[in-house]
Amino acid sequence: MSFLKTITFAGAIALASAATAEERFITIGTGGQTGVYFVVGQSICRLVNRDTAKTGLKCTAPSTGGSIANVNAIAAGDMDMGVAQSDVQYNAYNGVADFEGKKFDKERAVFSVHGELLTLVARKDANIATFDDLKGKRVNVGNPGSGSAATMAVVLAAKGWSNADFSLASELKPAEQAAALGDNKVDAISYVVGHPNGSIQEATSTVEANMVTVDGPVIDKLVADNPYYAKGVIPGGMYPGSPDDTQTFGVKATFVTSADVPDEVVYEVVKAVFDNFDRFKGLHPAFANLKPEEMIKDGLSAPLHPGAIKYYKERGWM
Ligand code: GLU
Repeated sequence: MSFLKTITFAGAIALASAATAEERFITIGTGGQTGVYFVVGQSICRLVNRDTAKTGLKCTAPSTGGSIANVNAIAAGDMDMGVAQSDVQYNAYNGVADFEGKKFDKERAVFSVHGELLTLVARKDANIATFDDLKGKRVNVGNPGSGSAATMAVVLAAKGWSNADFSLASELKPAEQAAALGDNKVDAISYVVGHPNGSIQEATSTVEANMVTVDGPVIDKLVADNPYYAKGVIPGGMYPGSPDDTQTFGVKATFVTSADVPDEVVYEVVKAVFDNFDRFKGLHPAFANLKPEEMIKDGLSAPLHPGAIKYYKERGWM
């Protein structure tokens, strides 16, 4: 009887401590709901929230404007972590481009995720095969706050163009642009995104459309001059209307945080992802080829967060 009592007592203590495990809400910045960042954030939160009873962490990953909006929100302390293109991570840490005058010294890298490519899709009737054919056309350059719009602006500047070289430069969000292409409101749309994804699938199945090649000496120089850019190919046959490979270039999607976020929080988030890595990889086809040894270095320019380093050392990866 007293034995039973002891067990009950111990059980009650365990319950009480689980219920009082200090709760902490963490917010992960993503992107538009039709993109891959949204899936990255939702997937990480799903894994983190399986352990809430143990860790106290409750994770949410709302839709946002994209990379630049996420990094700004992390710098302001409004979000804890977020997904950002490798070029945006670099620019924020170094205080250049969109972050001129607002260098984010406390930016910390956590890991990189999938590769993303500058993806231009044009209506077939607009006769746009290469980037240079976009001159004088109606082009969706992307919403402010997105990494997509920032990378488009980099390409335009490198070519000596501006939005004035388009007859229309619209700033629609990713979720709006497939319909705009189908309704003939624009000739082409742009998105820096991982493949395959539902957004480009929707755009290419709504109307007869083709991928646009982004190559040539200006792109070669951009890739040669900047460590966070790499050439890539959208595989032929992945989307309707583009049976052949499309040459372009792109970045890595990366996961970033701030030095102000406690080590144990970052540690638990990283642990949730890599302790359940096969499950994570299964949550989106763009994650299928991810390898931890590449994720802890490729595309990262800010220093790694100490909470992440702790986990990587435990796994013997560093
Ligand atoms: N690369 C895009 C951006 O930073 C987001 C892509 C996505 O949501 O998958 O705006």
